[in-house]
Amino acid sequence: MASGDQPDELEDLETAGQVIAVGDKIAVSVGKIEEMLQTANVGADAYSNALEAFSGAISLDDGKEVQALIAKMMQQTQEMQQQNNMLRDQLAHSSDEVKELRGNLESVKREAMTDVLTDIGNRKYFDIKLRELADKAMTEGEPVSLLLFDVDNFKDFNDSHGHQLGDQVLRLVARTLKESVKGRDVVARYGGEEFAVVLSGAGLEDAMKVGDGIRALVAKRRIIRKSTGEQIAAITISAGVARYRSGEPLSELIARSDAALYRAKDAGRNRVQAEMMPGRAA
Ligand code: GH3
Ligand code: MG
Ligand code: MG
Repeated sequence: MASGDQPDELEDLETAGQVIAVGDKIAVSVGKIEEMLQTANVGADAYSNALEAFSGAISLDDGKEVQALIAKMMQQTQEMQQQNNMLRDQLAHSSDEVKELRGNLESVKREAMTDVLTDIGNRKYFDIKLRELADKAMTEGEPVSLLLFDVDNFKDFNDSHGHQLGDQVLRLVARTLKESVKGRDVVARYGGEEFAVVLSGAGLEDAMKVGDGIRALVAKRRIIRKSTGEQIAAITISAGVARYRSGEPLSELIARSDAALYRAKDAGRNRVQAEMMPGRAA
């Protein structure tokens, strides 16, 4: 070994010491960055590759090479930080977008299940809610009853007073139904001038009472032609009521309510009729 080599070797050792000190500092920073990356879960591969290169090189005698590596690592770390910040911003932006989309989806869903004319639930809403309440009745053993309402002689009303006033009648009936039931009960427009109410926790007797209350309320209300203030003859509704029998197809429950409604019509309208009980005469 040439005597001139010694100072160089010492210099190298000194440099190596500094590098190790810098390396320690970097290791602390690396720990922090790694923590950050773990939470952000991005760029970890690129960083661990750089780290591997660094730890392999730190034992090298050539301080310049180590310095270059450190500089490279610093640069990579900075780039990763920038990338992380960008991704974090994108993430925040995406989560705002997801929130907005979720909100849009909810309002589209609500719209799809709302009747435009009366602003109560439509047939789709009725189908979904009846299924829900029937399932709940099966698991919890609570009674559920279905009331089907139909406006009496509505064709005549339309013919005499016009379709627009007819629409006003439908809105009035919908409002009366809504005002007459509790929050957990279901009110929907079943079809043209037919409405459905599903009562949970109500057997046939209770449902008959609710139905008759609604019938009486509608009969009491007066239709006023807005343009002239003219008072139009009262309208009436009829209803059929049936109680859900655990496990039966919902079409059977609807058919029994409908049959009861027809009997109410046959009996003279403006009345509520219960389903026929098995083994009993009409
Ligand atoms: P009933 O007492 O036996 O029920 O007699 P009805 O005249 O009410 O029965 P029908 O089924 O013959 O007539 C139903 C009428 O309801 C006919 C139809 O024009 C009317 N209708 C259905 N949907 C609407 C609507 O959205 N607006 C208006 N104004 N009328 C409607
Ligand atoms: Mg009808
Ligand atoms: Mg009718």
